[in-house]
Amino acid sequence: MIPNENSFCDLDPSVKDKWGIPVLRFHWKWSEHELKQAAHMEATFAMIIDAIGGKAKKPEADGAKAIEPGGSIIHEVGGAIMGADAKKSVTNQWNQCWEVPNLLLNDGSAFCSNADKNPTLTIMALAWRATDHLVEEMRKGNL
Ligand SMILES: Cc1cc2nc3c(=O)[nH]c(=O)nc-3n(C[C@H](O)[C@H](O)[C@H](O)COP(=O)(O)OP(=O)(O)OC[C@H]3O[C@@H](n4cnc5c(N)ncnc54)[C@H](O)[C@@H]3O)c2cc1C
Repeated sequence: MIPNENSFCDLDPSVKDKWGIPVLRFHWKWSEHELKQAAHMEATFAMIIDAIGGKAKKPEADGAKAIEPGGSIIHEVGGAIMGADAKKSVTNQWNQCWEVPNLLLNDGSAFCSNADKNPTLTIMALAWRATDHLVEEMRKGNL
């Protein structure tokens, strides 16, 4: 999945948690890129299964019917994306929050797109890289 303007999270204007803190509200919308991928995947699987002598179900051509609802898988990332522009992202390339330099987001939230591959090794690699940078910044007295 690539980021789109309709998928973001903000603070809920009315719902608060048990400590009176506004909760995070998610907005989610698949774009045509993801819907086309889902329809293409169904068609490809059917072609392969038929080619090897199996009997595939009729592939769903409508990507919106083929794709799972957002947030229902187990590899969701993003929500506080990394970027080069502080106006359009939450962290810089070091998982470091633009507005709070001593706050690092060393988890999946800083991902700026969602590859179909497993995210955890990349989460760990980015956390290691960000922490090396943090130590360097502290050594230089920048933090
Ligand atoms: C069943 C399953 C199988 C998976 N298999 C794979 C796989 O094979 N390969 C792969 O790469 N990924 C896999 N994943 C995905 C992987 O687990 C996640 O991508 C990864 O754990 C995300 O790391 P994270 O640090 O962003 O969040 P998490 O690992 O979810 O860590 C968030 C932590 O914050 C804690 N927390 C939440 N709220 C609060 C709070 N208010 N205060 C304090 N602590 C809080 C939670 O208890 C949790 O410990 C799988 C996930 C699931 C559910």
